[in-house]
Amino acid sequence: MKLPSLNTQILIGAIAGVAVGLYFQTLGAENPVAQGGLYASGLVGMLFIDLLKMILIPLVFCSITVGIANLRQHQQMHHVWVTTLLFFVCSMGIAIVLGMAASLYFKPGSGLSLPMFEHALQNFEAKQLPLPEFFAQFLHGLFVNPFKALSEGNVLAVVLFALILGVTLVMGGERYKSILSLLQEGLEITMRIVGWVMRLAPLGIMALLIKLVAVQDVAMLGTLAKFVVLVIGTLLLHGIVILPLTLYLFTGKSPLWFWRGAREALVTAFATSSSSATLPVTLRCAAQHLQVKPEIAGFVIPLGATINMDGTALYEAAAALFVANLVGVDLNLTQQLIVFFTSMIAAMGAPGIPSAGMVTMVMVLQSVGLPAEAIAILLPIDRLLDTLRTTVNVQGDMVGSLVVQKLVNSEK
Ligand code: ASP
Repeated sequence: MKLPSLNTQILIGAIAGVAVGLYFQTLGAENPVAQGGLYASGLVGMLFIDLLKMILIPLVFCSITVGIANLRQHQQMHHVWVTTLLFFVCSMGIAIVLGMAASLYFKPGSGLSLPMFEHALQNFEAKQLPLPEFFAQFLHGLFVNPFKALSEGNVLAVVLFALILGVTLVMGGERYKSILSLLQEGLEITMRIVGWVMRLAPLGIMALLIKLVAVQDVAMLGTLAKFVVLVIGTLLLHGIVILPLTLYLFTGKSPLWFWRGAREALVTAFATSSSSATLPVTLRCAAQHLQVKPEIAGFVIPLGATINMDGTALYEAAAALFVANLVGVDLNLTQQLIVFFTSMIAAMGAPGIPSAGMVTMVMVLQSVGLPAEAIAILLPIDRLLDTLRTTVNVQGDMVGSLVVQKLVNSEK
């Protein structure tokens, strides 16, 4: 019997995961069937993410080094750098404006009051995260002993070291030819392993979604329904209208073409809520399905997975305005601008792991004097919203790689 294509299997896995998760939710947490099912899906989901993480660091290391080395050969490195960073900042800026505009218009949280959330607030102590300290910490984390960064899975530090190594390899030219070809082979090997891991994706994604849906706090979702709908709506607007339109305007590629090539990564991002864990799949989609040249994909995608987060930026800004409404504070224009900039910095600084945005969110709230404790209210619904914002984060990286490729090529 011929199995359906991997993409179809992944979609079937995702739908089955949501359906089984809903079923377990109705059975209740005490039910032995639900308990057994949740244990099994927790195990399978964990193994799938472990496999992705296992291959992540060798893949990022090889792909960036080889990517940079190849770029330099074409004298395009400067263009790629500048275009990539500009694209990241602009697309995150648009996402934040969307999130803020929708929150200012619909005013989620204005009908609610803090005492309603006493239970959530009780056991929560917000960690201080002042902006200057966050900034210093961020810079301090950039240049790390590469062996430490590799062994700890510190993606941003690995990206930076690989960049430096890539440049050094090209400067040395012929002399370091064998190291470069070793890394090139390393890249091919790791991509092959990613291909194998992806065969397990339908099962892994199903397991992750079962767990996610089954343990949702439905009561809290109901109370915060207006905010949840607003965030989901603006994320969808950015992902379904703004990013595809940007792609079309710059490259002439249709949204359907993009969806076909990118869906493996989008569904994986949705299920794992982690741009980093999804990174091997994102690279595979960009290089193999969307035909982004390896040297562009190898640079834009890993960098994007760590600093380009449209969904997170949008969410942080919208959530800050939500908290302002909740505590009855009217933010003036200057404060709104502060929210804009800190949301961007907070999103850039958030690592690509589940709920990372919640940690850096503290900084956004503190920057305009809002109570950081309000995070406790957002935490119970965070895993749900994280799915979609991670999907938009990953989509932004893939669109970015296509746009950068087009712009750099047309400059030649
Ligand atoms: N989970 C997100 C990501 O990995 C980050 C966040 O917004 O929490 O992209």
